[in-house]
Amino acid sequence: MESNPTMKFFTRRELLLAVGGLAGGAFAARLFPPAIAHAAAPGFPPQAAAGDPVAAMRAQFGGVPIQAQPLTDSITLLSGPGGNVVVLNGADGKLMGDTFVQPAWPHLKDALATIGNEPVKTVIDTHWHFDHSDSNASLHAAGATLVAHENTKKRMSESHTLAVLNLTFPPSPADALPQQTFPQNHKITMNGEKVSLVHVPPAHTDSDIYIHFEKGNVLQTGDIFFNGMFPYIDDGTGGSVSGMIAGATKLLAVADNNTKIVPGHGPLGNKADLMKYRDMLTTVRDRLQKLKSSGKSVEEAAAAKPLDDLDPAWGKGLFNAATFIQIAYPAL
Ligand SMILES: [Zn+2]
Repeated sequence: MESNPTMKFFTRRELLLAVGGLAGGAFAARLFPPAIAHAAAPGFPPQAAAGDPVAAMRAQFGGVPIQAQPLTDSITLLSGPGGNVVVLNGADGKLMGDTFVQPAWPHLKDALATIGNEPVKTVIDTHWHFDHSDSNASLHAAGATLVAHENTKKRMSESHTLAVLNLTFPPSPADALPQQTFPQNHKITMNGEKVSLVHVPPAHTDSDIYIHFEKGNVLQTGDIFFNGMFPYIDDGTGGSVSGMIAGATKLLAVADNNTKIVPGHGPLGNKADLMKYRDMLTTVRDRLQKLKSSGKSVEEAAAAKPLDDLDPAWGKGLFNAATFIQIAYPAL
């Protein structure tokens, strides 16, 4: 194997870009030492990460500071530890979309307290992946009800390995599993806001939902949308490139020109960002499908460098073009 995609996943520059909005080389160097063998975030000893890619990634993501950005009077975007969390706050209590990785929990708790004293009543997972559901148990212990699509509960109850990343997850403990699940759509009214939870046919996984805060016009997409970067696609639990394109199209139908679109990874976006991303995925699918239909193996396809022209614009996030081919080719 010419390169290790897992190692690639952890290079500090890319991780920094992936979390979005953070700047400063010295800051980056402090947070993300270059080698995975020593890749522990502050507070997490290197030996906890060495040889355990999941622990390493938890530590890496968990060490990123949380930044708060108000989206409306009652909705706040928290960004940092590996992704984005949306918080709706008010007299009825808090509702959250996604939860960051587990090591970020103490910081997430502080960030929630800064928004207001109201308790977290409802926590929604956009899909089963650990960087979105990892603080479930902590939030449930603090009194929240966990809500997700029924496949999120199913997938979290099983053992899975994320291909290319080589991250293996055992079944989640019972107290981390969603208590309330739904097969298609679910609506929650809270703090004067209508929150629509809508299942999207298999895209990034088979457990994806989007969360639409209708009054605030905020759309939380989960990992159907990686803003400004090649996405991950989990074909092991139902994801596919065509599903991602169809998912992006479904999201576009919900958004208008003023919708604040919170991606699973990357900075806050808008409809134009989502369209560009959907178009990129369509280009990728067409090019890779051509190679696959002509019988080329993934190695032969990669050697043809079919996505190199997209690398400058899309390959500076979590995955460069070469790694993205490894992810997307089996998911065609
Ligand atoms: Zn994901």
